[in-house]
Amino acid sequence: MTATPAAIRFAGVGQVFQTQSGALEALRGVDMTIDRHEFVAVLGPSGCGKSTLLRLTSGLLMPTRGTIEVFGKKVTEPRDDIGIVFQRPTLLPWATIEDNVLFPVRHKTGSVSPDDRKTAQALIEKVGLKDFEKRLPDELSGGMQQRVGIARALFMNPDILLMDEPFSALDALTREEMGFELLRIWEDQPKTVMFITHSISEAVLLADRILVMGERPGSIVENLKTDIPRPRDMETSNNQLMHDYVGHLRSLLLKRAA
Ligand code: ADP
Ligand code: MG
Repeated sequence: MTATPAAIRFAGVGQVFQTQSGALEALRGVDMTIDRHEFVAVLGPSGCGKSTLLRLTSGLLMPTRGTIEVFGKKVTEPRDDIGIVFQRPTLLPWATIEDNVLFPVRHKTGSVSPDDRKTAQALIEKVGLKDFEKRLPDELSGGMQQRVGIARALFMNPDILLMDEPFSALDALTREEMGFELLRIWEDQPKTVMFITHSISEAVLLADRILVMGERPGSIVENLKTDIPRPRDMETSNNQLMHDYVGHLRSLLLKRAA
């Protein structure tokens, strides 16, 4: 019997950047696995290497040490089966919402088929932007622009979705709504999600497992599997279990920062 390979696996990963003021060690000895269709949050203080972890997973950056595998294959370049959502949506300002969502296929093949347009339309509806397809990014609010970024990341129907503090530029209410919307998409179309955040409550509300990173050089200092029932909604925020996990993580992070 062969075990199914993990969606994402880091073994002994270290990352050192060469900077003008010398070598900067961003990650040291990172070991972790994320199973297919798991929703995992990565939580840690600013500068601990969260974005570096994401760039390594996506193949945008190669590790100084150790190995990274996606579905059992060493990562050597960006892959089509990984979608990325950044903190800011980085939309093309002169292109319509529809063309922004179609960007991955146009970039890859140089053309767009009628089926691609149908897929884009369906995704635009799924993220709640029906009737906005011909608008320009500037005509949309920050939350709506971030939805376009999510639709674009979903375009190639990736098995893995990497999200780097995707909602941190949004106001608190929009942020929470977007989180639930993401959960609906994930429940409807299961994906492996690596969700980076520095918000403890956001991590607990969304994920099934939380990897906590320590200060630079970053490594995984805690692997917390949570047990909060799904589907989750506004009520989940009042759940006693949720409070307990948030309290535990807060004291862990405070202790480490002390
Ligand atoms: P986080 O996302 O947790 O805030 P990052 O992964 O962005 O942290 O960065 C971790 C550390 O590595 C920081 O000290 C940052 O300045 C440094 N760093 C990140 N990318 C580069 C780079 N390309 N060149 C030099 N230093 C970098
Ligand atoms: Mg970051």
